Amino acid sequence: MSRRVVIIGAGYAGLGAAVRLARKTRGQDVRLTLVNRDQGFVERVRLHQLAADQRLRAWPLATMLHGTGIELLIATVTSIDVTRRRVHLERAPGAVEYDTLIYALGSGLPAYNVPGVSGHAHFVVSAEKAARLRDRIGGLSGGRIAVVGGGLTGLEVATEIAEARPDLDLHLCADTEPGHWLAPAGQRHLRQALDRLGITTHLGRVSTVRATSVDLDHDGRVDADVTVWTAGFAVPTLARDSGISADERNRIVVDDRLRSVSHPEIYAVGDAAAATTAGGESRMSCQTAIPMGRYVAGAIARELSGDKPRPYRMRYVWQNISLGRRDGITQFTRGDDSPLPAVMTGWKAARFKEAVTRSVVRYIAG
Ligand SMILES: Cc1cc2nc3c(=O)[nH]c(=O)nc-3n(C[C@H](O)[C@H](O)[C@H](O)COP(=O)(O)OP(=O)(O)OC[C@H]3O[C@@H](n4cnc5c(N)ncnc54)[C@H](O)[C@@H]3O)c2cc1C
Repeated sequence: MSRRVVIIGAGYAGLGAAVRLARKTRGQDVRLTLVNRDQGFVERVRLHQLAADQRLRAWPLATMLHGTGIELLIATVTSIDVTRRRVHLERAPGAVEYDTLIYALGSGLPAYNVPGVSGHAHFVVSAEKAARLRDRIGGLSGGRIAVVGGGLTGLEVATEIAEARPDLDLHLCADTEPGHWLAPAGQRHLRQALDRLGITTHLGRVSTVRATSVDLDHDGRVDADVTVWTAGFAVPTLARDSGISADERNRIVVDDRLRSVSHPEIYAVGDAAAATTAGGESRMSCQTAIPMGRYVAGAIARELSGDKPRPYRMRYVWQNISLGRRDGITQFTRGDDSPLPAVMTGWKAARFKEAVTRSVVRYIAG
């Protein structure tokens, strides 16, 4: 009987794992099924561009998987029966059985514990939410936008919208200096870029989000027609609810081969996995998700041929931050993600990031 490998989630980690595993097991008695909620692969790293009303290229999964032999099911996973090894779906065929499961459902929910966020804020965590933000901004002629969160996503969202819509007044609310983790040259460039784009920074912890303002602990109140919350992605509780061992952020706890510590027939990859790298806890990023997917495909292929896989290891090389379409920062890093003095800035960094983002899709789709 065929070995049934089911991959749930066709993002950077899951799609990459599925395509690579298909290639590595060609000719073997292995049946691969990829389950995803949407018909298309979503380039999540471009969702701030979607929010700023740029048209994103469509990536139909059926076309991307053509010729791979992978069975594609477009359905939402509702639960996993870990005893019967069955993934439940909200539509036909209702369930799919596995011998090995690759869990790659990502982190498509916003993370927050501040009053008013759910009722008043907009988000860029998923294509649907980014499109909602785009439509809201599209309806404004002038006005103020508050972007909460001074991390990579907050910087990309604020600068992208500021560049696309100079008629809007952009405010960035962050509890620490935006870009404080960058090398000095990167920090200088970021400050210049925020000034050039007319973005006002407010330092302080956001305590409440209201319909037309954001309250800060130390910097009073920032009036805003639209608030965008970018301070963190959240992992759905699906794995935990299904009885799979998960950490406090709902990510699956894995061993050094990215197998669930409670259910070793389940591999976890991407944002949904609590894995470690050279520097400790892995960063939620496509930079982490892609090597995880590749590793798991290789590990399963090795197991199938009777070999013991080597432990998972990953080292970071850079952080790419876009500052609109014509500016950016590439912060080169050590393997543990800490910054090196080397930084590339300006249009070269913007072009570099665009080239990397494009090549990533080609790379994972094989
Ligand atoms: C605006 C923005 C900018 C970013 N910029 C960068 C960047 O510059 N560099 C970087 O490295 N990272 C960046 N990231 C983070 C990066 O996008 C994520 O870390 C990455 O997408 C994680 O990959 P993944 O495969 O784990 O999950 P995802 O890419 O989120 O894929 C998960 C897949 O699972 C599917 N799915 C989810 N739930 C279900 C369900 N119940 N049933 C069926 N299917 C389901 C989803 O539809 C999706 O296809 C950015 C994110 C955002 C939002």
